[in-house]
Amino acid sequence: MNSTDKNLDRIRHRIRTAAESAGRDPSTVRLVAVSKTHPPGAIREAAGAGQEIFGESKIQEALAKIPVLPPSLEWHFIGHLQSNKIRKALPLFRLFHGVDNPGLAVQMNRIAEECGCFPRILLEVNVSGEESKFGFQPDCLRSAIADLLALPRVGVSGLMTMAPYSEDPLAARPYFAALRHLRDDLEQQTGTPLPELSMGMSGDFEAAISEGSTLVRIGSAIFGERPKNQPDRFS
Ligand SMILES: *Cc1c(COP(=O)(O)O)cnc(C)c1O
Repeated sequence: MNSTDKNLDRIRHRIRTAAESAGRDPSTVRLVAVSKTHPPGAIREAAGAGQEIFGESKIQEALAKIPVLPPSLEWHFIGHLQSNKIRKALPLFRLFHGVDNPGLAVQMNRIAEECGCFPRILLEVNVSGEESKFGFQPDCLRSAIADLLALPRVGVSGLMTMAPYSEDPLAARPYFAALRHLRDDLEQQTGTPLPELSMGMSGDFEAAISEGSTLVRIGSAIFGERPKNQPDRFS
């Protein structure tokens, strides 16, 4: 077994354990292997070990990698989508995790009409209120949700968040609970199911699973640390 296989095994075991101790069926938690900055070879290894869903955060990088990898893989966009990249992005990704403003969703809807596709999205929420974070403020989302659900081409599957960075894996739990509560409120308000909660990364996914996460986005715990000279959205 190479290290990617071993890491994947370990992560799957931890996901299963976290789900079971929360009284959840482990199959309701899907693993998104965040492969940003890692070469196609690393992704092929993970795919060989049975991993099917991969997350990328840059369109240029995804355009270079996705076509050289098996077509059976499912790709999720986890970054901050710029409007001038929507047209290229739509055919590549099954799910867009980070839609953080109504204007972006409206533009995705318009371009989806031209391409004849039906993108699925998750609305990113800034539950911590940190100024450096992307995402809807919860109250803005309460006001915007009806219009977003009315977009004919774009399907809203649920919510996504990133907890503030902390050394303490449990510190994130209240933010994950807040996202779940907001989701429950929005479902009540609109009468529309929002089943997906994308929350939890390498450092905090167990807390996220305790609070109902259905999609954990895990990068470094599978593929190792990312090269420091390749900036991503944290830097
Ligand atoms: C990079 C990234 C991740 C993965 O982070 P790790 O700490 O490496 O697991 C998850 N979600 C988003 C939005 C990211 O940009």
